[in-house]
Amino acid sequence: MIITLKKRTPQSEVDRLIESFERQGLRVHFSEGENFNVIGLVGDATRLSERDILANEWVANVQRVGAPYKLANRMFHPEDTIVDVAGIRIGGHEKIAMIAGPCAVEGLDEIVEAAKEVKEAGAGLLRGGAYKPRTSPYSFQGLGYEGIKDMVKAREITGLPIVSELMSADKIDEFAENVDLVQIGARNMQNFDLLKEVGRLNKPVLLKRGMSATIEEWIMAAEYIMASGNPNVIFCERGIRTFEKYTRNTLDLSVVPILKERTHLPVIIDPSHATGDWKYIEPVSLAAIAAGADGLIIEVHPHPECALSDGAQSLKPAKYAELVKKARMVARAVGRDL
Ligand code: PEP
Ligand code: MN
Repeated sequence: MIITLKKRTPQSEVDRLIESFERQGLRVHFSEGENFNVIGLVGDATRLSERDILANEWVANVQRVGAPYKLANRMFHPEDTIVDVAGIRIGGHEKIAMIAGPCAVEGLDEIVEAAKEVKEAGAGLLRGGAYKPRTSPYSFQGLGYEGIKDMVKAREITGLPIVSELMSADKIDEFAENVDLVQIGARNMQNFDLLKEVGRLNKPVLLKRGMSATIEEWIMAAEYIMASGNPNVIFCERGIRTFEKYTRNTLDLSVVPILKERTHLPVIIDPSHATGDWKYIEPVSLAAIAAGADGLIIEVHPHPECALSDGAQSLKPAKYAELVKKARMVARAVGRDL
């Protein structure tokens, strides 16, 4: 970190600042310039906040040289992290992970039918929300624990590992016991208490990007989970909120190379919430794989027109099967498999 002090900073203040950084275990290089004096800090400055240092009236500028995250940072962990979800390896040069299923679990018959169909089409994991974060309190809120139990039955029948969203820390034991991949939804990406709780969990976490979150805020959310002891985090881009109205959200595909450059964690894409329209899911999915994504999470419903949530962006199983075939060709073209 490089801290620029105003030229007329009193010596007592310079000494006080240097001493306080040294007390925090940092090495300090001080150099006096023509118009400014510069303090260079060497060591782990992740605990320091640029904004707090700027509160000092003698500080003209603060520049962080490294990133504020450590555990997620590829600089300190050059090899790709591969996250194991009940035996399915996600990340690195592993096969593209195909997660599919309805937005919400609507009942045992529906989820079992969906699970069988997505498996037949080529999916390797089953998604299904039991606790749903709906914009309206009058919309279907999910089946709760019944939905989790239905997912477990669908897993027993098909063998597909299950992915479901955890909205509240009081359900953590239920998820620890039953769910293979714990999803943290966009709306909870910065629910720091929840992040700390899943950080203590011995289950992998699918961390969705907040709808208005910068990439750095998102990586810091992963850092929360990792700093609490859980290294198994998968990023999931699901579109961000922009001025554009022709899609539900705006898919930011650039996150794939950016996250891969800066972090060592797997990245998957959710084209369903990103576009909001089943017609756009296939082309966007193919682009995601070409860009280097490690997986796709796609909403598939046996009867989208009757879905209790997100039917408009849900593929019919036959369409999903076509998508999987094309996705496999793109994966092979970029040196992966599916
Ligand atoms: C979901 O996956 O069903 C969901 C609610 O996603 P998001 O948190 O990305 O909106
Ligand atoms: Mn949904």
